[in-house]
Amino acid sequence: MLTPKPRTNPMEKNPTEKLVIPHIELSEEEEPPSQQTFIDEATLLDEYFKSRNDRDKTAISDRSLDFLQTYFPEATVKDWNNWHWQIKNSADSIEQLARYVNLSENEVKPDGPNSQSLPLRISPYYISLLDRNNPDQALRKSVVPVFDEFLTHDGEASDPLSEEHYSPVPNIVHRYPDRVLFLVTGFCSTYCRYCTRTRMVAKNKCHTGVKSWEPGLNYIEQHKEVRDVLISGGDPLTMPDLHVEYLLSRLRNIRHVEIIRIGTKVPAVLPQRITRPLVGMLRKYHPLYLSIHFTHADEITMEVKEACERLANAGIPLGSQTVLLKGINDDVEVMKNLMHALLKIRVRPYYLYQCDPVVGSGHFRTTIEKGLDIIKGLRGHTSGYAIPTYVVDAPGGGGKIPLLPDYVVGREDDYVLLKNYEDKVFRYPDFTQ
Ligand code: SF4
Repeated sequence: MLTPKPRTNPMEKNPTEKLVIPHIELSEEEEPPSQQTFIDEATLLDEYFKSRNDRDKTAISDRSLDFLQTYFPEATVKDWNNWHWQIKNSADSIEQLARYVNLSENEVKPDGPNSQSLPLRISPYYISLLDRNNPDQALRKSVVPVFDEFLTHDGEASDPLSEEHYSPVPNIVHRYPDRVLFLVTGFCSTYCRYCTRTRMVAKNKCHTGVKSWEPGLNYIEQHKEVRDVLISGGDPLTMPDLHVEYLLSRLRNIRHVEIIRIGTKVPAVLPQRITRPLVGMLRKYHPLYLSIHFTHADEITMEVKEACERLANAGIPLGSQTVLLKGINDDVEVMKNLMHALLKIRVRPYYLYQCDPVVGSGHFRTTIEKGLDIIKGLRGHTSGYAIPTYVVDAPGGGGKIPLLPDYVVGREDDYVLLKNYEDKVFRYPDFTQ
């Protein structure tokens, strides 16, 4: 009779045998060598360098390339990707804009002696995103002037947030106890037709210069309660690197300034500005935050993605600011698409602003109820990260007031009645033992 041998796993070691683990010191960056490295090192290195070269190329979409070749046949891709070239070749009159866009009657009217105080400027890159034949396209409505800008409505003002009233020295707005707004330039590469600072942007069509910042810097130095400085304008990232760096280094040298924020629309309207040297410089001044003004998902192109990735890779937290605009983004699906698109390029939705009642902006404003409906349409229907805080910046300088749909519907004895995103009511025991 055959005695069955005990079944053994050939891979199993004799438990009595001592396991010897070779000691290999790996630094944090080192990977253990893979077999493939030894098999085909040359191919791997080739692929690595090729992918690195591809990564180093600045992106240009087919759409931009087509636009470049049609309207600037003499220019090269290198020109297009140069932000100075972009600014120099911006459209700053209706005649120039008419080269690229078939203007409607309503869009042609603004270019007259009556011309509104907010100037016209659109970068070639952003013009390439405009629909040539559709005046109702969201992006086009946000940057092309229309006749309605001449109309003034009740409640509108040239300085709706009373920023000048809260300005102790030129260029500084000190409305909250621990932070200030520092308006360092009046220039933007592309002007939004609903701009709150219509009164100050592009008065001289150039930057005010570093000397004009001295009173503001002195004020911040003298006010030890200021722990947070928001640099805005105009658009600070339209200034040369040297000026931006001068400002950041002056602020970083003030001991009580803990964080610095930059408010900008440049990554959306002039992504070519987000160069490696700029980002390399910005990363020296952490903690540094960027609040980027986005309006619609159509702005999220491959160029914008690359610009935001570059900033995010430099460790700069990116948040978005969006103004709620009638006929542009006042719809739950449109807003959701924008918020999702932002998260995909590593920008965290931050604020959704009710449109400020600046003179000539009536055609852009929605009701507050519309804003609340949009927040209700997002909350619970998408991830919390995709939901911005909806705020009204109170006219007269009251600051930002957050608004939420009513989720508390009442009380029954010790229980609070709460409504969820599906309008179902739940009871929460609101007492302590
Ligand atoms: S980027 Fe900002 S400051 Fe410039 S026009 Fe638009 S809203 Fe105004």
